[in-house]
Amino acid sequence: MKLREYLIYNKLTSREFSKSLGISEVSLSRYINGKRFPGKKIVKKIYNLSDGFVDANDFYFEKEKIYELSDEDEILIKKLLNNVKKGSRKSLAKAITLIESTRFEDKVKSERLISKILEEKKTLRIGISGVPGVGKSTFIESLGLFLIKEGYKVAVLAVDPSSQRSGGSILGDKTRMQKLSNHDSAFIRPSPSSGHLGGVTKTTRESISCLEAANYDIIFVETMGVGQAETSVFNLVDIFVVLLLPSGGDDLQGIKKGIIELADLLIVNKADSNLLSAASSTVNDYKNALSITNSIREDWSPKVLKCSSIKLIGIQDVWKNILDYWKLRINNKTFFKNRSLQKINWMWELINNKFDYYVEDILKKEKLVQKIEKDVQLQKLDPSVGAINILNFYVKKFK
Ligand code: GDP
Repeated sequence: MKLREYLIYNKLTSREFSKSLGISEVSLSRYINGKRFPGKKIVKKIYNLSDGFVDANDFYFEKEKIYELSDEDEILIKKLLNNVKKGSRKSLAKAITLIESTRFEDKVKSERLISKILEEKKTLRIGISGVPGVGKSTFIESLGLFLIKEGYKVAVLAVDPSSQRSGGSILGDKTRMQKLSNHDSAFIRPSPSSGHLGGVTKTTRESISCLEAANYDIIFVETMGVGQAETSVFNLVDIFVVLLLPSGGDDLQGIKKGIIELADLLIVNKADSNLLSAASSTVNDYKNALSITNSIREDWSPKVLKCSSIKLIGIQDVWKNILDYWKLRINNKTFFKNRSLQKINWMWELINNKFDYYVEDILKKEKLVQKIEKDVQLQKLDPSVGAINILNFYVKKFK
């Protein structure tokens, strides 16, 4: 880390730091500005005082600059965020497009944008999972319209059926959530086709932050009950809801058992017409199954409900249960505690993403790394020695 960044990060003044170093403020400012190089003794002192954050390389070698925001970028980002906050749908869509972009330049811009959204709002993030055809979009539309009547602003990060293998083949080009998407108090964003299986993407969390900055109160995140995606969604929502079809065990529904175990609410949808009695017996089956499973939260036992998203039966009861859960967790303080833990997960996820990016797009293209690869291939170098050499190179170059 550059000394300047270190002082800012730790809220230290040059005067304080120069005093601890035992040098004059003028000398320190010369080192900071690169007008002079510190000697060995001072470098060591700085290294120790900064707990290793600032070392000799930070003075003697320029780090790789991949993309640095210009003043113009900074102004545009600020403007974009202000417009998002003021409720401009166009700017919101633009901001999410920036977040979803895979261009490195855009990633740097979207990181800055997200870093400016610090305020933690009392919104509710609801994960909705279930196999294609269970009625997720119909359910979200019905509950969403109900919530708008209750005075909430609703946003949906949805699976885009045309971009998903299984969803696409079943649903074709059907327009989803048409009534909700036409509503002024709703904003629907389909997942980009590059999303992971199940509609969750590496950027869903950033999109949620953006929707909250735009003052949406309830954020639905939809996935397809395929396993891996569910755990990621579970880690970024406040409540996890699984929709089920009337009758049929987990296997028949194509849902993995682990997903049921994550659910705060299990809702048997399509409880209407000739499916009503099957829905009731499915509710009982799941109630029995849950009575012998440990719940995932200490303060909440998962509930099993039924509803008809088409006939609007049971939607109000679903909301009542969600509200009970929300109030309970706000009152017992687990709500924001959980969000804080999720933030730590988020940070590690970002580290993994960045690491993957550096390895694939930068490190593997470095001459030295390619030479090491070649030497390992020609059996001139042991893979474990090669790995350590590459890691050392990585740490020096990108730290
Ligand atoms: P998704 O793939 O999970 O989003 O499912 P959709 O919401 O697209 O619904 C799949 C099909 O189930 C559609 O034909 C819906 O009309 C139908 N459907 C959804 N909810 C209900 C319901 O409550 N009752 C009945 N009978 N059909 C429903």
